[in-house]
Amino acid sequence: MRYSRRPLIITALRRGLRKRCPHCGEGRLFSGWSHLERCSNCGLVFERNPGDTWAFTVIGDRLPIAAIIVLIYFGVVRSHPVLGLTILAALGALLVWTAPNRWGVGIALHYLSRVYFPDAVDPIPPIRDND
Ligand SMILES: [Zn+2]
Repeated sequence: MRYSRRPLIITALRRGLRKRCPHCGEGRLFSGWSHLERCSNCGLVFERNPGDTWAFTVIGDRLPIAAIIVLIYFGVVRSHPVLGLTILAALGALLVWTAPNRWGVGIALHYLSRVYFPDAVDPIPPIRDND
C-alpha cells in the first residue's frame, strides 16, 4: 500500500462524503437515490454482501435523530416554540438532505475496513497513478 494510514482514511471519508468512490474518487456511489453496485471508473464493488454497510449507515442516521430527541427531551420546543420548531424543521431537512452523504461515509468506512482487514475473496482493485 503506497498510502500511509492517516491520508488514506481522510481521503476515503472525504470521497464518501462527496458521494464518490472511496477507492479512486472518480466513480459515483449513487444514481439519484439508489445505490450503484460498483465503481464505473475502477470497478470496486461497493457492497459485496447486502447489508455490509448497514452498521455504518445506521450509526450515521441515528446521530442526527439523537440530536432531535435531545432537543425535544430538554424542552427546547416547549419553552421556545418558534425557535424549537424551526430547529426541528432544519434538522429534519438536514437529515433528509445529507442522507446520501452519510451513506457515502458509511460506504467509505466499510471500504476502509476492507483495506485494513483484507480478505482474499474480496480483492480491492489496484490504484491507478493518475490522480
Ligand atoms: Zn472507483
